[in-house]
Amino acid sequence: MLRLDDHPSGRHFLQIPGPTNVPDRILRALDHPTIDHRGPEFARLTLEILEGLRKIFQTAGPVVIYPASGTGAWEAALVNTLSPGDAVLMFETGHFATLWRKMAARLGLEVDFVAGDWRSGVDPVVVQTRLAADKTHRYKAVMVVHNETSTGVTSRIPLIREAIDRARHPALFMVDTISSLASMDYRHAEWGVDVTVAGSQKGLMLPPGLSFNAVSDKALATSKGARLPRSYWGWDEIIASNRDGYFPYTPATNLLYGLHEAIDMLLAEGLPAVFARHRRHGEATRRAVRAWALEILCLNPDEYSDSLTAIVMPDGHDADIFRRKVLERFDLSLGTGLGRLAG
Ligand SMILES: *Cc1c(COP(=O)(O)O)cnc(C)c1O
Repeated sequence: MLRLDDHPSGRHFLQIPGPTNVPDRILRALDHPTIDHRGPEFARLTLEILEGLRKIFQTAGPVVIYPASGTGAWEAALVNTLSPGDAVLMFETGHFATLWRKMAARLGLEVDFVAGDWRSGVDPVVVQTRLAADKTHRYKAVMVVHNETSTGVTSRIPLIREAIDRARHPALFMVDTISSLASMDYRHAEWGVDVTVAGSQKGLMLPPGLSFNAVSDKALATSKGARLPRSYWGWDEIIASNRDGYFPYTPATNLLYGLHEAIDMLLAEGLPAVFARHRRHGEATRRAVRAWALEILCLNPDEYSDSLTAIVMPDGHDADIFRRKVLERFDLSLGTGLGRLAG
């Protein structure tokens, strides 16, 4: 426990991968009376947010907003596009890829999970080989976590897209950007992604509670024939209501105030400047790690994450004991090792 009586310092330093620090501007934006979500003021808010989100995801197509954590948007991506027994290709980049795979299996999909070492991103050569061997187009989707939050490793989405194209494979391409969107360069349309999954509490600087699906025309067309059961997550009703600025069920009104503010902040700074700032901070962190003679978990410098850095604890030291001491002495929270990387 944090001993506030011992250390009545100023702010708590929240340095976990997410939820991230919520800027004061956004905290103030949340602090407004909740309005009628069927009224005209709300419709204006929604339409401005949807226009802003298209710039953040870099797409001209629909972006669907859910009152849910990122896990909900994972489920939405699957149930809107796939049918029971469909085969999908996934990659073991770390803890989050493993969780997404578990969800896909529970939903009745047949997952081929390419083993990984939790220190590398998805290898585009393996993508091409696996898809080229799939002559009958059994795979209906290729699913990749852009920024593996458990390892600090990114997968190179444009190279994976090229690999899918070189194999001339029609599978949908789905990407989890929950810890990369609005922190690292990401282009839904230009990179040919069919469903981008995102969440509010990381790069978008909001509290937890919102998540997103950016959807390509191809994914939308596929969804018409997809037979996994869906109701709450269905894109069609949400997209139809969104046209006039509304939602089929009660949206998270105050989080949307915060999202409007976050979009303003990101677009005022400019996405290239936002990405450069994270790159600079990421590089500063990596240089500090090297100066301390510690090891960065990510093996390939081309795959370094700029939104978080995973550091290998020296032999004989437990990360959770270290984290507890850091919290007690400096009022600073660091991320914990997840899954295979616990301790
Ligand atoms: C945080 C995170 C998730 C899980 O999102 P929740 O909001 O906890 O449901 C999934 N994938 C990645 C890459 C994440 O960083």
